[in-house]
Amino acid sequence: MNGIEYLLSNINNIIGIGDKTANLLKKKSINTIFDLLWNLPRDFIDRSNAFKINELEVGKTQTINVIVKKYNFPRIRNLPNKVICEDQTGKIECVFFNSYEGYIRKILPINQKVTINGKINFFNKKYQIVNPTHISSDEKSIKKIYSKYSLTEGINEKKYQKIINEVLKNLPDLDEWLSYDIAKKFNNISWKNSIIQLHDPKNLNKKGNFLYRLIFDEILSNFLISSNIRKKIKKIKKVKKVFNDESIKSVIKRINFKLTEDQLKSIGEINKDLKSDRKMFRLIQGDVGSGKTIVSLIACLNVIQSKFQVAFMAPTEILSIQHYNLAQKIFNNDIKIRLLTSKTDRKERKTILDDLSQGKIDLIIGTHSLFQEKIKYKNLGLIIIDEQHKFGVKQRKKLSDKAGKNCDVLVMSATPIPRTMIMTMYGDMDTSIIKSKPKNRKEIKTYSKNEKNINEILSFVKKQIFNGNQIFWVCPLIEESKKVDHQSSIKRYDFLKKIFKNRVGILHGELGSFKKDKILSDFLNKKIDIIVSTTVIEVGIDFPNANVIIIENANKFGLSQLHQLRGRVGRGSKESFCILMFKTNLSKNAKKRINILKSSNDGFKISEEDMKLRGYGDLLGFKQSGIKNFRLADPIQNEDLFFLAENEVKKIEALNENLNKYLPLLKLYDRADILNDIV
Ligand code: ADP
Ligand code: MG
Repeated sequence: MNGIEYLLSNINNIIGIGDKTANLLKKKSINTIFDLLWNLPRDFIDRSNAFKINELEVGKTQTINVIVKKYNFPRIRNLPNKVICEDQTGKIECVFFNSYEGYIRKILPINQKVTINGKINFFNKKYQIVNPTHISSDEKSIKKIYSKYSLTEGINEKKYQKIINEVLKNLPDLDEWLSYDIAKKFNNISWKNSIIQLHDPKNLNKKGNFLYRLIFDEILSNFLISSNIRKKIKKIKKVKKVFNDESIKSVIKRINFKLTEDQLKSIGEINKDLKSDRKMFRLIQGDVGSGKTIVSLIACLNVIQSKFQVAFMAPTEILSIQHYNLAQKIFNNDIKIRLLTSKTDRKERKTILDDLSQGKIDLIIGTHSLFQEKIKYKNLGLIIIDEQHKFGVKQRKKLSDKAGKNCDVLVMSATPIPRTMIMTMYGDMDTSIIKSKPKNRKEIKTYSKNEKNINEILSFVKKQIFNGNQIFWVCPLIEESKKVDHQSSIKRYDFLKKIFKNRVGILHGELGSFKKDKILSDFLNKKIDIIVSTTVIEVGIDFPNANVIIIENANKFGLSQLHQLRGRVGRGSKESFCILMFKTNLSKNAKKRINILKSSNDGFKISEEDMKLRGYGDLLGFKQSGIKNFRLADPIQNEDLFFLAENEVKKIEALNENLNKYLPLLKLYDRADILNDIV
């Protein structure tokens, strides 16, 4: 077994680990020896300092040097065995549950000097140590500072120490994969030494080359994998799309606004990709309300003009319905558009599938049901995925593979994230960024209110409705479970109905398409003034006339999520409001977060602040991204290392370097499990 194989091998291979222990660790997702290295010390115990018995502090884990004086082994089973020890200042009792007499006599021989470590108790006017963590007749062996790990149930500290020491002792020397220049930046510290230092109790909370090197490794492997996927995709040849740029004029005529500079720039970039003989794999990144939909629909039109089909996928049915309605509005009748979701009935579904395979449908809009195995397209030329941040690299890659050779891929995401995160999450794609928002936008005024003052909110709502405005009223999930998540909205709906009569509608995931569509069109046609909903409206939906959003139990949401929800209003030219409702008085931290939201409408800034407060791992969608959390790297704190890695990857790409040298790194750190597919 070489070094890498050893590290990636099953933890059962560690000497001293039996099946029982291995299974306990596996429950904590520690499967390989490599995994074990990332269970990092949380604290350390200093056993180098021995105390006199009369100096001991109850509750602390301390070390004593004592002489064994007397055994007390009861004849009755289930009673603990006890051993009295003493020093010049007093007596202490060691209490053993589940240890045999013979064993105790061996480790604590009468009249011998021993060193004992454990948690100090005081019971029956006596000092006690119950099940000492360490006993030794050799004083030196215990004079050591130990790393303390968060323990798994069923594995005691001593056992864990033994396991980790065994692993650290046997760490293999790996060939250096870092380039000469980079290795020098980290003072040539090897991977192995870095790991050893990472576990050294003296380095707890310390930073240094050992840490930076390991962080860099983690980022580099991520970027190299992305770069590789990207290179593979770039090699794929396709039939060029042929279309006339003029045809989009008819669409522009049907919308009553001028495209922003960034929208035009993105359209230009997409058109160039479509017309090239290489497959497009592009991301449009833009804050909520920046106008991504129209850009993607123009791409649809161009592809359909080149006699290809387009599949447009949205994360929710509600959003699909809305895109479908918009496409019908802005395209000519000769373009055949259909909607397909999990709620589409069987008969209709069958017709749609037949029509797709015969090329009778140009544009199919729907949820992920669009990519089920059964669907055959006659000649799919473009896949568009809206609000795709809930997909990971792996899913994207699968989609692109499945899409077929001539199929371009365009994805859109509204999660505004710092550049380091874009690099991490979308390194496999080309990106178009829409920064500028349409000119007519006004800032959304954001307030927080205690639920007790709901009457104030109601009178505000009445006033807004009187002025012809419309309202979203969002209730949070009660539980993650889908079955109950709409209960709080139903309750609120019943309450509001008493006041606003039939001018209120309700929207949640469990309704059928027909009902959803009816509510949406009633809202659009101003037959209702208020939509009470769950967070199903979080992504994408667009009602420029709605200018107030009320979010209940707002402290249940993350900042980025609140920003997404708030982005449902402020899409027209009206003055807009966001009211965050709370059940109790806000904690200091909650107030801080609300203030960030109140003071900014800039998604990039908010997500950055959110990350500082909560850590990047909680950021909307990142958890599901397949990249999962880095073990050490942090896109905010280690920004410089991200840029360093980006540069390094560019160099590697430019030199067309063989990746063999990096294979050990990639194998170890391939967290998305994607490597198998690409090398
Ligand atoms: P998102 O980027 O969040 O998907 P949408 O595409 O839904 O945003 O657009 C938000 C709203 O802005 C829509 O009502 C859309 O019609 C409108 N819009 C898009 N582009 C412009 C523009 N250039 N000028 C004015 N309004 C625009
Ligand atoms: Mg959108």
